[in-house]
Amino acid sequence: MILAGFTHEPVVQLSERLARIAPAGLGHCFYAADGSSAVEIALKMSFHYWRNAGRPHKTGFVSLANGYHGETLGALALGDISLFKRTYASLLTRTSQVPSPDGRNAEPGENDEAFALRCAGALERHLEAHHAETAALVLEPLVQCAGGMGMYHPAYLRRSRELCSRYEVHLIADEIAVGFGRTGTMFACEQAQIAPDFLCLSKGLSAGYLPLSVTMTTDAVYGAFWDDEVTRGFLHSHSYSGNPLACRAALASLDIFEHDSVLDANRRRTRELTDLAAPIREHPGVRHFRNNGMIWAFDAVTADPHFSRKFFREALSHELLLRPLGSTVYFMPPYVIGRDEMELLVSGTLRTLDALRGDT
Ligand SMILES: *Cc1c(COP(=O)(O)O)cnc(C)c1O
Repeated sequence: MILAGFTHEPVVQLSERLARIAPAGLGHCFYAADGSSAVEIALKMSFHYWRNAGRPHKTGFVSLANGYHGETLGALALGDISLFKRTYASLLTRTSQVPSPDGRNAEPGENDEAFALRCAGALERHLEAHHAETAALVLEPLVQCAGGMGMYHPAYLRRSRELCSRYEVHLIADEIAVGFGRTGTMFACEQAQIAPDFLCLSKGLSAGYLPLSVTMTTDAVYGAFWDDEVTRGFLHSHSYSGNPLACRAALASLDIFEHDSVLDANRRRTRELTDLAAPIREHPGVRHFRNNGMIWAFDAVTADPHFSRKFFREALSHELLLRPLGSTVYFMPPYVIGRDEMELLVSGTLRTLDALRGDT
């Protein structure tokens, strides 16, 4: 069942439901099957919006240092992780990066909020100079996941929303990793009380059961494409855009969120695991222990370039599947994790750290 020119009940139900729970104003849904495609759709739509609006010079994109937005060429061009990017550098369009508000980069004594606002100052200077040729700012709200679980203060989001509005630049929120409760609220943007112009969702959308992604946007963006002239329309579709079975899986997952009060239950889980993890936070081989909702991360004190591989192998022998990003170890447990599994996670992590300490 292709969505081009047709519709079906699951996609209508899902779109209406997403519009109800998403930050205000995001009433339109455009579907694909993976996160990278959702990002590509936001980029193409933003670019095409400005063209339709008679502002053809607004073609550039700005993103945060150390961000990650996917593997396809447009998404990869926005990302800032050289390991994934450098081989393909000559294929990628040029994008700009502004400093990441990741609290680990703060000066000693500077709190996360002050640091976030200082970074927003750098964004302001960038937009001041380049807004006329900038289509959108793209960022991962609150947690930069693949780049090492860098967490930052919501003040950065509030300020970037203001700056994007002032300078007429779209704000694209890539909540592919953090959407659907990962940071404690349904969407991370809620914690800054902002609504982006585009919201990209995937991973948690179908609870991981079937491939599905969506790019949500506003009436203003939708309206710019509503025209009899076909080239003003958004000519983009994928074979599996809005696949009915995948939409049903997403609806079933949203039912569970409601009926089982998953976000409330997760608040208890967050407290419980954070308490249990105190010995990890205090471990001499651990720096920057941090938590946001259902994400925990810390940086191991090590100079071993093979730390990640060694930690992964050692953790497996303690029944844990942990895949550090460089020296950053993180937990993103499923929302059904119980007390026993939390205890196993903490004790296995401590044993793994101790086993590697003699080694690194
Ligand atoms: C995983 C991820 C993507 C890419 O999604 P895929 O489904 O792997 O293409 C994009 N952005 C963020 C923040 C992600 O975590």
